[in-house]
Amino acid sequence: RRSAAIIDGRARARKVLEDVKSQARKWKAKSGVVPGIAVVIVGDNPASAIYVASKEKTAKECGFHSRIETRPATASTSEILDLLGELNVAPDIHGILVQLPLPTHIDAGKVIQAISPGKDVDGFHFVNVGRLATGAVDGAIVPCTPAGAILLIGDILGPDLSGRRAVVLGRSNIVGKPMANLLLAANATVTVAHSRSHDLAALCREADILVAAVGRPELVRGHWIKPGAVVIDVGINRVQTGEGRRAGLVGDVAFEEAQSVAGAITPVPGGVGPMTIAMLMANTLNAAIRGGMG
Ligand code: NDP
Repeated sequence: RRSAAIIDGRARARKVLEDVKSQARKWKAKSGVVPGIAVVIVGDNPASAIYVASKEKTAKECGFHSRIETRPATASTSEILDLLGELNVAPDIHGILVQLPLPTHIDAGKVIQAISPGKDVDGFHFVNVGRLATGAVDGAIVPCTPAGAILLIGDILGPDLSGRRAVVLGRSNIVGKPMANLLLAANATVTVAHSRSHDLAALCREADILVAAVGRPELVRGHWIKPGAVVIDVGINRVQTGEGRRAGLVGDVAFEEAQSVAGAITPVPGGVGPMTIAMLMANTLNAAIRGGMG
């Protein structure tokens, strides 16, 4: 029985980070500018704290300047907006991200739109979303997870996906929609499926490229996959019974089943996850080089 190639997201992410580090060094030598990232964290969500610590560590490794702005869970929307106003004009900060989720009393939409588009390294501001959606991909800051996923896809299939059928499971603004737009920009024929779609299995079986971003542990089964397909599993689901898997994390794809059908597949963990943080650093470097324009 054939077995899919396992896509090593950790190794690929290391390569991205090495490139970022060396480009940052060159940019500093040329312009005197050290890329700077600010992370805003509100409240004390333990998962957020772990993500922020890892972003700060990676930023340091890239030679970036980093600034963590912590506010209590009781902070108001206007306090966060004031902070963003400051960061938007801070000359040493080129990338700003607000760690989500925010406490529910804060207007997350307002907060995201208050980040200057040129510093919006998560790529969630309407200006960046609009650029990507209209095909002005080069000028857009692209959300990190789909940016990492398209890189992995490009490594295998090349940058031009003409004639390829892609199915994206999930339509969130963070993953599904920008993923679909990136695939479209690369000339793939794209279907976006979600919780109201019918017969996901049949839809998925048409996919040469299948991206699963639904947050449902092992929803995608082996028989949903077209033989030889490239399968990108974005899902990170914490499950009770780890079944020998590290930290009890599983993706949105039933990995073992899928591996016997697919041509290439990302593991969870060690696939898309490490790419996400690497692309955040790449976005920050690019924002610094562009000088916060846009
Ligand atoms: P959301 O919950 O925002 O979106 C999930 C999407 O999946 C929605 O569009 C929803 O449909 C759809 N969906 C949910 N259940 C089903 C179902 N049974 N059948 C078909 N579609 C379904 O999640 P995100 O997009 O933010 O994240 C998706 C997954 O990716 C999560 O596991 C998350 O942890 C992971 N993730 C991983 C990252 C990484 O770095 N690797 C980064 C970001 C997320 P509808 O719109 O109809 O509700």
